[in-house]
Amino acid sequence: MTKYDIIIIGSGLGGLECGAILSKEGYNVCVLEKNSLFGGCFQSYRRKGHLFDTGIHYIGSLDEGQIMNQCFRYLGIMDKLKLRRLDESAFDQIYYKNGIYNFAMGDSLFTETLSEYFPHEKDNLQRYTEKLSEVGRLISVDHLKKGIIAVEGMKYFSTSATALISEITSNRDLQNILCGSSLLYGGIKDVSTFYQHAMINHSYIESAYRFVDGSMQVSLELINVIRSNGGTVLNNKEVTRIIVENEKVKGVEINNEEIIESNHVISNMHPKRTLELLDKNRSIKNAYISRINSLKNTYGVFTLHLVMKKESYPYINSNYYLNENDNVWYNKENSPKITNCMVSMQASSKSEQYAEVISILTPMYIDELSAWENTTYGHRGGEYAQFKENKAQEILEFTRKRGIDFGQHIETMYTTTPLSYRDYTASIDGSAYGIIKNYKYPQIGFVSTRTKLENLFLTGQNLNVHGALGVTLTAIITCSEFLGQEYLAKKIGNA
Ligand SMILES: Cc1cc2nc3c(=O)[nH]c(=O)nc-3n(C[C@H](O)[C@H](O)[C@H](O)COP(=O)(O)OP(=O)(O)OC[C@H]3O[C@@H](n4cnc5c(N)ncnc54)[C@H](O)[C@@H]3O)c2cc1C
Repeated sequence: MTKYDIIIIGSGLGGLECGAILSKEGYNVCVLEKNSLFGGCFQSYRRKGHLFDTGIHYIGSLDEGQIMNQCFRYLGIMDKLKLRRLDESAFDQIYYKNGIYNFAMGDSLFTETLSEYFPHEKDNLQRYTEKLSEVGRLISVDHLKKGIIAVEGMKYFSTSATALISEITSNRDLQNILCGSSLLYGGIKDVSTFYQHAMINHSYIESAYRFVDGSMQVSLELINVIRSNGGTVLNNKEVTRIIVENEKVKGVEINNEEIIESNHVISNMHPKRTLELLDKNRSIKNAYISRINSLKNTYGVFTLHLVMKKESYPYINSNYYLNENDNVWYNKENSPKITNCMVSMQASSKSEQYAEVISILTPMYIDELSAWENTTYGHRGGEYAQFKENKAQEILEFTRKRGIDFGQHIETMYTTTPLSYRDYTASIDGSAYGIIKNYKYPQIGFVSTRTKLENLFLTGQNLNVHGALGVTLTAIITCSEFLGQEYLAKKIGNA
């Protein structure tokens, strides 16, 4: 039986990036994925010849010299990706109180564009982008070159996004518009941290791109890197137990039968799931387990994928964030009413002129689906199908009322709910972005890449910031437990 240096549980972006980095550095890695499709949220599935992205609509900081570009370059995948840069003058369009406000790329164009709507706010907008850059600069290619992965930014984790923005401008409409894409980070009013708001918005203001023909290309390219470095990546291998002997992880059990051994294990699963599968041991204390179990997770999303009739609806190279009046933060109390939607067109190599697939996302808590809580994919029954159909119609009505009418252009529709995410990626309660970071308790929401079992490590969106950028940085931090921060940072920075 092969004994690996490192078993990685889960082939989400975090797991695959760890696999690629560590295999490049000579470790014999084995990535185990429970599903037949790799990639977790970086997975695209096909129905009747159409491709649907599950958890990535756009990605930031991919211009030359920017952080994601550098990381993907180091990983050896940058030049292989098929990308489309979003509209520079309006990568996001925020629908707010019956008006549309554009977010443009680059600090000065961003400021100029919003100043056209708020001419007296130009200085404040400049201060806003400077503040975002201050947080964005905590990570940079220059830092990497000096051997630093990220400069400490705890003060922004303990600062409320809404509070800091209201210090920058007293104009309530502008405050709301600047938070108009809060759905992107599972934003909750007076809870979300300025760190998340700034890190994510700064990254897109730097540069924003869509993947052409699906985000899964990233997963497939990373798998190629791992395999070409001698690593193993296996699908349909659900880890059902993490085996501990003498206070060390010995390996994992897969599909309740086979056992694979390794010197180390990295889990890309939610930390709560990791603990559920872990053998009893003395090293991981009950206090840690109850802290992890008590952490709240962000809302999930209901996704409506529209397949458009051929050459019927124009492809729009920007995203819409549609908000009900001034309601830019989704509020559970309004559930099940739809108050916020994101509309994103998938980029396809078939046409730059017409949309083939359009995805519409709206926040949803799993409570709304309690009637089907104990069901599994494909066996949820007719009432569930009807629930989804009704929700889809409500969404279309919501967009129609805001001037976007897809009606006669739709060929077919597909939907996913938080139950789909719960059952596919094993996210807790179908949460879209994992553990909530609350500025009031910044330390509590942080989960370290290390555990008290010396050879068990964690990675993925739950640890720090979610999304392509957050998960990539966390993967680097996880891998630096093996390679050393300075060594790895310099390698990436100088790639
Ligand atoms: C609807 C939606 C839209 C989003 N849009 C964007 C966006 O536009 N831009 C952006 O940057 N981010 C976006 N995100 C966030 C981003 O997709 C995630 O933060 C990121 O992909 C998470 O990666 P991960 O590696 O942490 O975990 P995941 O992608 O959740 O991967 C975890 C993997 O572990 C596997 N697994 C779980 N349990 C087991 C087990 N027992 N055995 C084996 N394997 C197991 C799962 O099957 C999965 O493959 C979006 C997320 C959602 C849900």
